Amino acid sequence: MRTEPIVQAERDAFLRTQIDAVYGLNLPLIVMDALGCVLIASFCWSAATAPALGLWLSINAVAMMVRAAIAFAYRTGRLPAIGTRGWAAALVAGAAFDGMMWGAAIVWVVATGSDNQVMVVMCVALSALTLSIANIAYWPVYAAFAAPVSLSAAFGFALSDRYGSVLLSIGAVAMTAALLMISHRLARSVLRAQRLAVDNQHLIDSLAQRSRDLEEACRILEEVSRTDPLTGLANRRSGDACLAREWARAQRYGGALGVIAIDVDRFKRYNDTHGHAEGDRCLQAVARIIAEAPRGPADLAVRPGGEEFMLIFPGAALEDLRPIAERLRRRIERDTAASALMLREGVTVSLGLASVESAPGLSPDDLVRAADAALYSAKMSGRNRLACAPAGEITAAAAA
Ligand code: GH3
Ligand code: MG
Ligand code: MG
Repeated sequence: MRTEPIVQAERDAFLRTQIDAVYGLNLPLIVMDALGCVLIASFCWSAATAPALGLWLSINAVAMMVRAAIAFAYRTGRLPAIGTRGWAAALVAGAAFDGMMWGAAIVWVVATGSDNQVMVVMCVALSALTLSIANIAYWPVYAAFAAPVSLSAAFGFALSDRYGSVLLSIGAVAMTAALLMISHRLARSVLRAQRLAVDNQHLIDSLAQRSRDLEEACRILEEVSRTDPLTGLANRRSGDACLAREWARAQRYGGALGVIAIDVDRFKRYNDTHGHAEGDRCLQAVARIIAEAPRGPADLAVRPGGEEFMLIFPGAALEDLRPIAERLRRRIERDTAASALMLREGVTVSLGLASVESAPGLSPDDLVRAADAALYSAKMSGRNRLACAPAGEITAAAAA
């Protein structure tokens, strides 16, 4: 459910995009504003009007500098303490003050100036109204300038006694109403387009986030599907894939593939004596030691199931496997017996070693079968020991 602060934050973010558009065009508008002021002053300048026009120009110049400084501060990110609403209010206040200054000049010229001066001022005022459409992205700014400018023309004509001024005054009021109404409609259309753009962006962002979440979920799923949940070692599926991959590599580039099959000795008895949960803890302890056997990223420790484990060593010959297996056997015997692993009683493992150079007619299954056969012979010879499958026999078994 959407909460009020979130809606408020969204409104603020949207208001920011609106005033961004207005502040973006603020400086060129101020320059045009200054030109308009100079134009009005130069056409109305005389010895009699000089003091009033001089004051009007000076106040306008200061106001423009303040507005330019505010626009600069906004666009360069200074004064972060001022919130979005503060920046919006500054825009409206600046436009309203500007509109009133122009309005004062228009009332004065229309009421007291010559026809020529009225015409120039009207042209400049209409140009200013046209240019200020740049503020339409945030309608209050447009209205704050346009309303006083066009209403002041109506007021000026109402005060003047020149021919047709009543009609012109009514016309200016009607124009003000039309201007505000049409600009308001236009602003709403612009607003809708902006909202749509913002919503689209949100949609794109949320889709991108969903796709990232999905990728992460796939990654986790992929990892879970490769991992044995009890021990965290690779599961049978992953072990089989590794064997197939390394077998293919050995076939392509040559070299041996070595495996060590490991089986916990008399584990049924351990389970029966201490319970299944303790049996699980024992398997986890043994797995932690086995997990340290791989020498590099290509080697893999696997728990195909039950109390059986397997180590895969691409490129390893029997001579390489033997010291690894012996070290492993001793570590498991020592660490479990010493209760370093907090087990109820020590356990041992038997290991079957096999290594073969891939050859036509042979498959990874032959290698695993040979390692299992070696493991069986280690069991038969008394357990807690290792036995090796002679490479020649692996070939013979496959050929059989
Ligand atoms: P050997 O020395 O000949 O390997 O004897 P063993 O008792 O270890 O072999 P056996 O195959 O007779 O028994 C294996 C036992 O392993 C039986 C089964 O209850 C137990 N086991 C298999 N998987 C799990 C497991 O995930 N958790 C627990 N706690 N025990 C398991
Ligand atoms: Mg077994
Ligand atoms: Mg066993």
